[in-house]
Amino acid sequence: MEARFLSVAGGYQRLECLPLSMSFSGYITGPLLRNRLFFMVLLVSCSGAGTSVQQPDLIKGVYGNPAALWEAGYDFPGLGINAVFVRAVSLSPEFVKRARAEQVKVFVEFPVLNGKTYLQAHPEAWPITASGERAEPADWFMGICPTDTAFKSHRVRELSGILTDYSVDGIFLDYFHWHAQFETPAPILPETCFCNRCIGLFEQYGALRVPGSSTSERAAWILAEQDSLWRKWRSAVLLDWATTLKQVIQADSDSLMMGIFHCGWLPHEHKGALYKNLGIDLPALATVADVLSPMLFHQMKNRPVSWVADYMAWLGQQPWAGGISAPKFWPIVQGNDQPSKLSAASFDTVLRAALKDPSSGVMPFSAESIAGDSAKLSVLRKLYIANR
Ligand SMILES: [Zn+2]
Repeated sequence: MEARFLSVAGGYQRLECLPLSMSFSGYITGPLLRNRLFFMVLLVSCSGAGTSVQQPDLIKGVYGNPAALWEAGYDFPGLGINAVFVRAVSLSPEFVKRARAEQVKVFVEFPVLNGKTYLQAHPEAWPITASGERAEPADWFMGICPTDTAFKSHRVRELSGILTDYSVDGIFLDYFHWHAQFETPAPILPETCFCNRCIGLFEQYGALRVPGSSTSERAAWILAEQDSLWRKWRSAVLLDWATTLKQVIQADSDSLMMGIFHCGWLPHEHKGALYKNLGIDLPALATVADVLSPMLFHQMKNRPVSWVADYMAWLGQQPWAGGISAPKFWPIVQGNDQPSKLSAASFDTVLRAALKDPSSGVMPFSAESIAGDSAKLSVLRKLYIANR
């Protein structure tokens, strides 16, 4: 058996049901193959024979400011790229127009719970620590209290504005976690948020009363007596955000996809911080998100290149990651040279590993970091073109 590829209506379908002896070129010249109905019958026939049609919509993406590749003299089709994940700040009518002309899908990265700019004018939304103080920035990241309703309305308006101004294929939520820092080898994991609003909402959620007269007393009681319920409530807050933003996205068009970029820690790592501190409940978010994109920046996190394959193997074993209702998985891998030079060989390894089952797509971080690196671009082009 050998994988074969065929252009169909501007896209590409990959077949794995054809024996080596079957000459595809003999079929491709016939008029019937230009008939979608015949092609669908062929696909069904393949599946029915006990083999499978794999990766019919494989996402070969790039993240960041993809226009950097144009500025470097490339175009998306020439690199085999069929989807771009563009930061909201890099979005423009000119960008979308040319991306459409190059027939790539356009997904927009939408920052959600980063509060640095908003907090300057709205300090009341500051995340509060267990000692009752405003949380310090976590390295370069400053989070926010996610129960601040004015902030949530602000983000909804921003998202609606993007959807009104641009025709895109989907929105990818970024910075979607409680205040913390996980993109460094040594994570920063403060306990937040113990503002009066959060504690009050937690009391409603748990139908309980938190005793104590000061924030520090009340926080200490919560962490000592209701830690499990507290974590559950915090993850429910994020699920509510995801649900709200999905409604906004699908109000524009129910064909739009919502993805979530998330920390790639396994549940047991850092004492369960993915769930306990970041508030990420992947099985729950999988019920809302169309795509989950684990951020597998191995070198930035001081991990071996094998980490990407290990993560995908773990993901493939999760019961919530399979079945027809499961989201798609499009990991984002490291392409930049932080904290040191990333070799083209390592780039090749992580790109390929990120396409292992259950993945149906991949994107490197970031377009601008590979635009001037001919060795990495050669790796990307070779892999993407080969998987047409
Ligand atoms: Zn709060």
